[in-house]
Formats: sequence, structure tokens, C-alpha cells
Amino acid sequence: MKYWLFLWVVTLLACSDGSGPLRLDVGWPTHGLDAGETRYSELDDINADNVSQLGLAWSYELNTNRGVETTPLVVAGVMYATAPWSVVHALDAKSGKLLWQFDPKVPKQWGRWACCDVVNRGVAMSGDNLFLGTLDGRLIAIERHTGKQVWVVQTTPRDKPYTITGAPRVVGGLVVIGNGGAEYGVRGFVTAYHVDSGEQAWRFYTVPGNPELALDHPDLDIALPTWSGGGWWEIGGGGTAWDAMAYDADLGLIYIGVGNGSPWSRYVRSPGGGDNLFLASIIALNAQTGRLVWHYQTTPGDNWDYTATQHLVLADMVVNGELRKVLMQAPKNGFLYMLDRANGELISANAYVNVTWASHVDIETGRPVETIAGNYAHKPKKITPGPQGGHNWQPMSFSRRTGLLYLPAHDTGMWYSNEENFSHNPRSWNLAQDSAASRQLAVDDPAEFRGHLLAWDFQTHKPRWQKRFKGHWNGGLLSTAGGVLFQGTADGYFTAYRDTDGELLWQVQSTTGIFAPPMTYRIDGEQYIAVAAGFGGGGMAGKRPGAIINEYHNEGRIIVFKLGADREMPTSRPRQMIQPMLAAQTATSDVVAHGKKTYGVYCGVCHGSGAKSGLLFPDLRYLTQEKYRIFNQIVLDGVFVSLGMPSFDDVLDVADANAIKAFILDRAIELRDNPEPF
Ligand code: CA
Repeated sequence: MKYWLFLWVVTLLACSDGSGPLRLDVGWPTHGLDAGETRYSELDDINADNVSQLGLAWSYELNTNRGVETTPLVVAGVMYATAPWSVVHALDAKSGKLLWQFDPKVPKQWGRWACCDVVNRGVAMSGDNLFLGTLDGRLIAIERHTGKQVWVVQTTPRDKPYTITGAPRVVGGLVVIGNGGAEYGVRGFVTAYHVDSGEQAWRFYTVPGNPELALDHPDLDIALPTWSGGGWWEIGGGGTAWDAMAYDADLGLIYIGVGNGSPWSRYVRSPGGGDNLFLASIIALNAQTGRLVWHYQTTPGDNWDYTATQHLVLADMVVNGELRKVLMQAPKNGFLYMLDRANGELISANAYVNVTWASHVDIETGRPVETIAGNYAHKPKKITPGPQGGHNWQPMSFSRRTGLLYLPAHDTGMWYSNEENFSHNPRSWNLAQDSAASRQLAVDDPAEFRGHLLAWDFQTHKPRWQKRFKGHWNGGLLSTAGGVLFQGTADGYFTAYRDTDGELLWQVQSTTGIFAPPMTYRIDGEQYIAVAAGFGGGGMAGKRPGAIINEYHNEGRIIVFKLGADREMPTSRPRQMIQPMLAAQTATSDVVAHGKKTYGVYCGVCHGSGAKSGLLFPDLRYLTQEKYRIFNQIVLDGVFVSLGMPSFDDVLDVADANAIKAFILDRAIELRDNPEPF
């Protein structure tokens, strides 16, 4: 029966194509294209010889100015892309026509708990249903033909600052979802639900809870002795699994990347020492039971926000003459790891960017060797990588054609400073970092923040080739059997490179920063390359040298290319930064100082240190007279909450708001008197 159906489909496609080789439709059914998350496509219609003939096939406006991190799925000719605030758009993948839209109506006030923008990275699919994690912690099954909700579960406690930005994954009849929130203070966990009913199958806690209570997962028995004092459970401990997962069906294992400690400083979090399992670890769980099979901790006793939530890639590779089932990860800590994914054995670990916190990873013990330069217990230290990591969430790509791992890396660093008099604030970030001391020392040198594209060769443990970019925070990657590597960058370009040597083959300017990863599919004999444009995400509080967001408004859209197409590229509106007339400063210096401190606690995470914004959020030094007039209504009454500006009336009073306003005016006057080029 199946055989005849197959022949019928093949005949139909062959006839519709007319002549030339048979080309079946090919979709993109799971987040990383396959269970091993390689992001390597076997399609080769678009190849190194003809990629220069790419043109715009269609584009779709997401009508957002917030960060766009989606990897769309394409199934049976329909593209399912997610947008900020966890909205799903179903589009005809050939034309870009909207078929349906699903808005889970995340309360905009929840943006308060998004450390790194109100982004979403994609949906999962099983049968007729899609699965969506929402910013406010829900997991929703959506019928994929109609966009109607099938079931919903709240996966996180709603009285804690949890968020979901990552894509769920489907493994053997279960849908698995993690969460984020470690910067604010939560306890990480991962949960699996039955795809049909939404009934919970298992939950794995990544860090232990209150040691006075019974363990709420049996595998925490090895984790608990690695924590010591500090009352971490009251803040949460962290260990959120907010992005990476991969699945090996033969081994029956799901691999999950676990995040940083909460608070960041281990001197506060676990003052008695210890590795603090399973922070900054790769864990391998039995996918059906949620029981731990092995774990590998990339950063024991994490002290630097070195999450290991970064992209996990599975491949079968010859290592020292032996075919191994491997797992690869470049976590934030700056080392690129290869593990045996059957048992977690470390095969290799090499620095892929400049690293100062550790000298190397000892292959015998599997542990990093920490340096004095990385210890900030008693004295602030400038440490590399910083909290943005040597690599962040932007996906890598492993090409089976070249055997190279393509990695979007960047140089970052930060002054770390232990906050000895730290106290937990449940309504804000809890890092136990003395940010005032750090910022006084910080030298804002844009040259130190650079992006790299590395084509990593595991035979030599160094890049076969690499590119250096003006700006950091560039896009994820796609490699194909056509010998082409695709990447978007912070400066707005979408580029095709030859996979073997990095030669630039084709490039287009999108006028919008790109950091989402490209994807590809084939319909009716034509291959398409798609990428979501729209800058944002973690750390957008700071200015980004070389980013196109300095010149154009940040307009999110999906752009899709094919050979021979010639539609005109959509263009974002040019940005004009004009400071309005400013009132004179009437507040006392004490009030301005109070405003500066309060701004640092509640406002700086989005609007930037010293009110100098990365332009994803308004630069308040350009605030109009009208906004000064209604300042307290914005900050306290939440009149702009529908636009994404939350209310802070639970933590600020009128005197605080007036002080923040005075501080912003101070900064605006300083800019007026000392203009800076954008
Ligand atoms: Ca973090």
C-alpha cells in the first residue's frame, strides 16, 4: 500500500516538474533540522557555482521591533515561524502568504522577567500538532492546519520570574521543555509531557532545593553534596535549561544544556565551595524516564554566568582512527568540547576564543584549570569571556560534507566584582556582582568586542578558516550539501561562503541586524533559503559598534531567497537621532545620585548603562518634553505596557521615579554638551 502511494507521489512530482532530475519536496521538520541538530541540509540545488544568482523570492513583515531568534519549521509546504511575545505565524512557504496566526496573549508586564528580550526560538511538531513554549511559562499544543489551541499546561510556577524562550523538542511521544530566569533567581528544571494529552511524564530538577526537605528527584543525591551554605535554594540556584537539547533515538538519550548559577557569584551562592551540580553542565537523560545517565560539567562552581545551554550537535566522527558517536558544544566559557555521547567521556576541549579564567581543560580529570586572573573573590577582575560568552545561543552547523563545525563566536569580557553585602531582591536581577565597582573600572573599548566565524577542524583543533567582523553578536549558521555556508550579521548582511575556504560567494544587505539562523527547504522543485531578520536578544542594553541598528529602525521580517528571483528587498526606515530641547536641571545632586543607583537596578538592563542604549530600547537621553511630562505615568502607572514598557509601581515610588527622571536629564545634558557620533 505504502509502496503504491510512494510511486503515485513520485509520478506526480516527476510530471509536474516537466524535465530534469526528480526533486522531491523537502521540509525542515525539527528545530535543528534533525534529531542531532546538525543544521546541515542535504539539498544542493543551490550550490557554490550558482549561489550568486540568488534573489528575493518573498518577505514577510513580523511587525515588531524586538529581537527575532526563530528557526522556522517547514512542513508540507507551510512555514511555522515564531516572533517576539511567543506569537506563531503560519505562512505559505512558497509565497509568504499568511495562513493563520496564533497569539498566546502573553501579558506584556511579563517582559519585566525577560533577561534577554521577549524572544522565541521556535516550535516543535508531532503529527497534526505544533508545540509552543510561551514567555510566561505555558506549553501550548496548536493544531497546525487551523492554528487552534488543542491543550495548554502551565510548566512553571507563575509566582516566580520564569520565562520560556527556547523551542520545545519532541522525543518518542513526549514533548520536552525547559525554562529561563536564572538572572532574576529561579531553580532550573526540564519537564516532559505526553504529546497527545499534555499530561506530565517526568520532571528533572537541575539543582537541589532546600536541603532540609526530601529530595524531589532521586538523581539529586549526587548533586546535593556539591553545594555548601549560602541559602542558594531561597534565591533558586539557577541551572536553567533555556535552549539546547538534542536526541539520540538509538541510545534513547536526550541531551540538555544547563545554565549558569544564581546568583552568579559562587562566593555568595555556595560560600563553602563545591562544584554546584548540575550548573553549567551537559546532562544525558533517559528520554522516557527522565533519569540521569551521565553528566559532564563544563564549568565546575560556575562563577561567571558561563551557561552550557549553547547549541548541542551530535555526529558520528572518526577520532584517532576510531568511529565515535560524539557530542559537540561551545559553551560560554570559551572551550569547545567533544564528548563521547554514549558515556559522557571527554575526548577534547580547546579554547576557541581568548580565555583568561582558566589555562586549559585537563583531559585526564575533565576539569578546567582555573587561573588567579579568574578569581574575583577579593578584588575586581576583568575576565574573558564575559557573560555574553565566547559563543551564545546562536546555532552552529556541522557539515557532513566537509567534516567542519561552523561556529559563530565572539570576543567579550567584563569586570567581575563580588558583592559582599549582597541581599536578595525578588523584583530584580540577583547576580551578587558589585556592578558599580565594575563599571567604574570598565573601559568601554569597542575594539574588544569582535565577532568571528570559525570553521573548526577537530583533527587539528583549530580553525581551518575564519572571518572577523566589525561587530559582535552575529547570526547562527546553515551549511548545505551544495558546499555553501549561510550567515547573517549584526551589520545587516546576509552572506553565502564557500564551506571549504570561506570565500565570499554572495551577499545582500537587509538593513536589519540578523542573528537568527538561516534554514532551507524545497517545494515544487525549487530550493529556498530563509532567515528571520531583526536584531535584539541578550545584552542589547549596550551600544554595538558596527551594527546596522545604529542606522535603521529595527524592523523584524522573514526574508526568503531562491535562484533567479528578483523581488526588491524591503528596507527599514532610516534612524534619526535628534535631541529635543532640554529643561534645566533643578534636582539636587543627591537626588540625581539616588536616580542613578535606582536606574542601575531597574532600568539599565534594557535602556543601557548610564542611559546609553543599544537602541533596541529607546535611548532615554533623547526623551521628548512630552515623555518627561508623563514620565511617572509611564514608569509607575504603566501607560505604555501594551508597547512593552512594564510598570514598576511595585518597587518604585514617586520620589524614586522623579530621581530617575532627574538622572536621565543629567545624562541628556551631558550628551548635549559633549555630542557623540552614532
Ligand atoms: Ca545567564
